[in-house]
Amino acid sequence: MESYEQARDYARAAMEKLDSHRIPASPPNYTVWYTYITRRNAALRQAIDAIIAEGNDFGSGVSEGLFRRFFDLDSSGEALVESSQQIETILSSALGQLRQAGDDHAGFGDRLDRYSQELAKSKGLGTISDIIDHIVAETRKTVERTRKIESDLQRTTDEAAELRRNLENARQEANTDPLTGIANRKRLDVELRSVLDDAAENETSCCLLLLDIDHFKTFNDRYGHQLGDDVLKLVAKILVRAIKGQDTAARYGGEEFAILLPKTPLEGALKLAEDIREALATRRLVNKNSGKALGNVTVSIGAAKWVPGENKESWIARADQALYAAKNNGRNRVEAAAPVRSAAE
Ligand code: GH3
Ligand code: MG
Ligand code: MG
Repeated sequence: MESYEQARDYARAAMEKLDSHRIPASPPNYTVWYTYITRRNAALRQAIDAIIAEGNDFGSGVSEGLFRRFFDLDSSGEALVESSQQIETILSSALGQLRQAGDDHAGFGDRLDRYSQELAKSKGLGTISDIIDHIVAETRKTVERTRKIESDLQRTTDEAAELRRNLENARQEANTDPLTGIANRKRLDVELRSVLDDAAENETSCCLLLLDIDHFKTFNDRYGHQLGDDVLKLVAKILVRAIKGQDTAARYGGEEFAILLPKTPLEGALKLAEDIREALATRRLVNKNSGKALGNVTVSIGAAKWVPGENKESWIARADQALYAAKNNGRNRVEAAAPVRSAAE
């Protein structure tokens, strides 16, 4: 990530490029040109240079096409939010300067006005007074023009802020499971990658829990899908309550959940798994509408400690095998994955 000054210079250069090619400064276009300026993406730079070399222009969606080609929405969500933030910053600083200029003009106009009134009182100075009246009128016009630009700019700044909020909401939604409100599998995947990078770099221990509700099909068949959904929400709530700040609880699939535990030894992970298992097993479920008892729901949990050198797929597969063992060994229980020799050994 560049420094504030560097980012500002890049942003200005990108805006100049947009301007000189007469491309609208929408966030996707801005992202394309900001990236072009920073030289972060050689292929994108080549593509743009080729268009310029061939003497083609960037009219009718050429820049947007580049955006779709070089920034698939997954990875660009971040860049898009970042660039709309930058546009917003540039706009609001321009707005501040303009306001200052407007105030200066207004003050100057007022002062001139006063002088003019003073002069008008003195005999024989009528001509000067006329000239000054004229200057006052001109200054007033300038003030009005500045105010108009100011309000236009304010509107654009508000729009940029709204755009950023929308992008942030969209990003949030794309990472959340709609039923339970916790992280979805996509978000878990991103977290898994980052935890693995960190664990490999700092040689820390991390663990993964996979949880699956026991005989959930039977529960659905007996009580209906709606109450089944309520159980999924309850499980998610119990998981979120059980974890701490750096951990991630996610809905992995239908009635399966995962918990990612960075910087955690296996004993810690097993203790947490046991706490969750017990919290659910001892909870008497009640139908909120009828007040009728629904018995209880249990989960089986597989735990796997990451082995240095191991890839994500192997780690998940071992947690899944442990979960399978927990099912086979009678359900409503926690099993740890067999330790394997480190790939680095
Ligand atoms: P096991 O103990 O072996 O895991 O048995 P199970 O019945 O839980 O497993 P199975 O894979 O046979 O069935 C999973 C059930 O989970 C079937 C499906 O109806 C239910 N399920 C999956 N997603 C949802 C959901 O979003 N809402 C509800 N209510 N049920 C769901
Ligand atoms: Mg299942
Ligand atoms: Mg199940």
